[in-house]
Amino acid sequence: MELIILLGAPGAGKGTHALRLAEARCIPQIATGDLLRQQVREQTPLGSQAKEFMDQGQLVPDVIVIKMIQERLSRPDVARGALLDGFPRTLAQAEALSRVVPPGVSIRVIALDVADELLLERLVGRRSCPGCGAAYHIRFAPPKQEGVCDRCQTTLIQRSDDKAETVAPRLKAFHEHTAPLLAYYAKQGLLSHVDASQPVEAVYRDLVQQLAAQP
Ligand code: ADP
Ligand code: AMP
Repeated sequence: MELIILLGAPGAGKGTHALRLAEARCIPQIATGDLLRQQVREQTPLGSQAKEFMDQGQLVPDVIVIKMIQERLSRPDVARGALLDGFPRTLAQAEALSRVVPPGVSIRVIALDVADELLLERLVGRRSCPGCGAAYHIRFAPPKQEGVCDRCQTTLIQRSDDKAETVAPRLKAFHEHTAPLLAYYAKQGLLSHVDASQPVEAVYRDLVQQLAAQP
């Protein structure tokens, strides 16, 4: 069983690469952001609790996210492994994850490094598929037909938190709470870095190369 964790700021490219990499390795992509948005859409109690934090660009409290991911990781499709996109995002989440991972599981953590200056344009230009989770960009990764997902033909949307005023708190939350995970995983010898400011294809190539190499 392998567990691959993509660590990176909002807009670094986690979803873009997670979808493709998970398909290539025949393991599920698990994106806590997608799971939370589904709860919001379905208007569940968890969704209504999470929504106020998401709308403000803040992290959803650990207890909520940890419970949700524990449930997801207990499903049978995770038997061969999983690609985690957007989780863990805090030290408490990383510690909770380490408690549920069975011994002998190979964990790889890849940091997608991008300077903050590039992220605003990536996020405000992002268009997302509510059907399959694919991410597009009006300039850097446009769909073949404007506004329509190449993979499942669903109409693309602009996420409500992908507006300029919500990007700043999201980046702040990343630096405050998630960036410390880089040292946490480096200390355990599990971390590799990829320069995610490159074009998409070059980032994917480096990601595959890093996964093939020793951490
Ligand atoms: P994350 O999941 O880390 O928040 P996404 O994968 O959704 O990020 O990417 C954010 C936006 O940036 C999307 O619009 C995507 O198309 C675009 N993008 C992703 N990687 C790159 C890249 N290497 N160069 C330019 N744009 C990119
Ligand atoms: P994302 O789709 O990964 O950009 O996540 C969107 C929003 O969902 C974030 O801004 C947070 O509010 C929330 N979220 C997603 N994953 C987590 C997590 N692991 N911990 C806390 N909040 C999360």
